[in-house]
Amino acid sequence: MYRYETHLHTSPVSRCAGAGVREQMRFYRELGYDGIFVTNHFLDGNVNIDRNLPYKTKLDFYLSDYFDAKKESENLGIKVFFGVELSHAGTDFLIYGLPPEWYQAHPEIMELGKKEELALMRSEGAFVVQAHPYREAGYIDHIRLYPRSVDAVEVINASRIDFENRLADQYADNYGLLKTGGSDNHHGFASRLAGMECEEPVMTEADYGRLVREGKARVFTLNPDRDSHEWFRREPEGCFTVQLRTNPSTGFDWDWEADHAEGIAEESREYLRKESEPALCGEPSFVKFVFRPSVPGMQSVTFRYRRSWESTPPLRTFNLRFELKQDGRISLPRHDFTE
Ligand SMILES: [Zn+2]
Ligand SMILES: [Zn+2]
Repeated sequence: MYRYETHLHTSPVSRCAGAGVREQMRFYRELGYDGIFVTNHFLDGNVNIDRNLPYKTKLDFYLSDYFDAKKESENLGIKVFFGVELSHAGTDFLIYGLPPEWYQAHPEIMELGKKEELALMRSEGAFVVQAHPYREAGYIDHIRLYPRSVDAVEVINASRIDFENRLADQYADNYGLLKTGGSDNHHGFASRLAGMECEEPVMTEADYGRLVREGKARVFTLNPDRDSHEWFRREPEGCFTVQLRTNPSTGFDWDWEADHAEGIAEESREYLRKESEPALCGEPSFVKFVFRPSVPGMQSVTFRYRRSWESTPPLRTFNLRFELKQDGRISLPRHDFTE
């Protein structure tokens, strides 16, 4: 199975996004995704540029994050695809399968009503999805449905509540529309994700629509901080971060031991609580270690979840193998988790 994020925003192009392309790419690469679609708010939406500038100037800016991500794709080990999120007064559409050049050649879309615009795009091969159709917010006057103008409905948007997603699913069923899922990720790390899982790898933007049409792609959801206990990032520069689930109020907590104690230093240790979890007494939280390896070569660190005063075997262990390369890069750590 190949996993894809189909709904993602990046800073600075989307005004509301807090994460840049690299942070987003690293986040999904570490989760094992094959690729991401960069779907920033188009020039009719929350794009971070003066609306009075000429179309070409705005479009160049709009495309800059996508091209930036595309350039880093090989380097960061994750595929990057182009998508667009169109807006009409709070009603949004995800467009896949039209290349950047298409938008360069069609400035007239800015003058079209959404129905005409979507019809034009579909006639030129676009796969059109109505995003979070039942979203309610202060700035949205009313819910608008476009059942005759779209190919699919985003039936799970990880940033929306279940009630809205359930209605979206019924909308798709009622009109016989295809179903997709996406996260609408604006900020990198997210504790709740949705995306599309495909039987074969997506090779091009057009491929994606075909796989959905052929029933070879299905919606999946993922809770990175619940479904996996451990978390890594190769940052900050020269360091890596390990995040583990913990509940220190029970007396249990993580400690660590390296096979070469002199080859690695703990830069910091921080306790975090996920915003998605209620702030209850004794709440589960995370401990975030930042390590700086200093000796090139393969190394391993063993983490143990235990009560420091007990000599019984640890409740959980987590073994991490990583390599510090001669050029300072840290290779993808291998890890085993036992419980
Ligand atoms: Zn946004
Ligand atoms: Zn969005």
